[in-house]
Amino acid sequence: MSRVGRIFWLAVTRVVLLAGFVGGTGALVGGAAFGWAMSALVVFAGFTYHAWKLSELSIWLSAAEPSSIHPSEVPEGLGVWGETLTQLYRVLRQQRASQESLSDALARFQQAASALPDGAVMLDHDLNLVWCNPTAERHWQISMERDRYQTITYFIRYPEFQPYLVSKNFVEPLTLRLSRADSIGALQEIVLVAQLVAFGDDQMLLLSRDVSERERLETMRRDFVANVSHELRTPLTVMSGFVETLRHAPSMTAAQTARALAHMETQATRMRRLVDDLLTLSQLEDTQNRLVESAIPILPLLREVVADATDLSAGRHTITLSGVDAILLGNREELFSALSNLVTNAVRYTQDGGEIRVETCEGDNGTLVMSVADNGEGIPAVHLPRLTERFYRVDRSRSREGGGTGLGLAIVKHVVLRHGAELKVESRQEADAHGSTFRIVFPASRRVVTEASDVRMAS
Ligand code: ADP
Repeated sequence: MSRVGRIFWLAVTRVVLLAGFVGGTGALVGGAAFGWAMSALVVFAGFTYHAWKLSELSIWLSAAEPSSIHPSEVPEGLGVWGETLTQLYRVLRQQRASQESLSDALARFQQAASALPDGAVMLDHDLNLVWCNPTAERHWQISMERDRYQTITYFIRYPEFQPYLVSKNFVEPLTLRLSRADSIGALQEIVLVAQLVAFGDDQMLLLSRDVSERERLETMRRDFVANVSHELRTPLTVMSGFVETLRHAPSMTAAQTARALAHMETQATRMRRLVDDLLTLSQLEDTQNRLVESAIPILPLLREVVADATDLSAGRHTITLSGVDAILLGNREELFSALSNLVTNAVRYTQDGGEIRVETCEGDNGTLVMSVADNGEGIPAVHLPRLTERFYRVDRSRSREGGGTGLGLAIVKHVVLRHGAELKVESRQEADAHGSTFRIVFPASRRVVTEASDVRMAS
């Protein structure tokens, strides 16, 4: 017998038995007519009960939203209804459990996708936005709330994207170079690599990755190699020119030969300086190269720097050293190199008769400030933000004439960073007030002992 038949006959048998029992008892008590009446009453009551339960179930089912039906809300019943409703309760409970585990899985997936460093946009078969993660919102400047169910061409309007979409060839990713304003309104180039991937039932996933930093590093690397090659090529060309001359002009006078050799020596010195600076810079940039610190009395260090600068100046400038004495925790060699670069620059970029002041003083919150100030011609404000870039020069020929490598301030910046300090540059170019001041501000945590003293040196 089928399940439906079994339940039907069970319900009928129960009513018939109950009607028979009540009818029989009624006939014994009040006669046959009373018995039949009682039986009919039982059949009628049974019928009414089934009709009532059926309508109750129907009303309950039509009122509830399927996804919001809670198993505990299933109506209760007697007899066949009790068994049927218990089964309904069991089915709903199973459905609810699998619904909960599905929502858990979906929430976990969304959490994982939200944490992805790459952008992911899920599109339906008509390329409408179904879902996207926060990275994609940033990459494409869209909003999941605002742009949901919008077509991709509506929210991605870059001219390069349209042909990619039309081509339907998504094997290779598309590289987009976009110009975007940053938080302070300055235009920035963003490089996005985007790729459409088919998945599931005719759906698409638009993946995107921001490679701006990678591109910037690659450009920096290329520029660096080009710069080094260029810096080395010039002295090498000059030297090979002199070698040629010496070889093919044996009749050169002693004075001419001496002049050629002097030129060659200058170029060799320039190349050696460049290689030395490159090595220094690469050591400073090496993250594995930890700072070896010791307590350094700064005044003797500054005296040494000033003495070297005085030799370089050869009496063309007035160089003074003044300020407080202190003991600084740091690397003597690196600090010497940084300060020496600043003072050497001041000598090289200040006209004869100019003044150079090397000072140390107490800064705010226990910081120690070392400054090198000159009254040279100054640096135009537009160059200040880029001054510490490798090979960045305000005046190329002037830098070369003075034997500059273009790496001095890059070295200073790295030493400053390694000491947790800050480099501040000020420069003025007014006719009556011109000159540059380079300040290194060391944090209070780098100071060991401080003791006031005032020393003055002049050359
Ligand atoms: P360089 O070897 O060319 O001096 P630096 O990195 O030391 O390289 O300096 C970068 C540029 O900054 C220099 O080429 C120069 O134009 C400018 N500069 C640095 N210091 C001074 C200064 N004290 N006065 C004027 N210009 C300066």
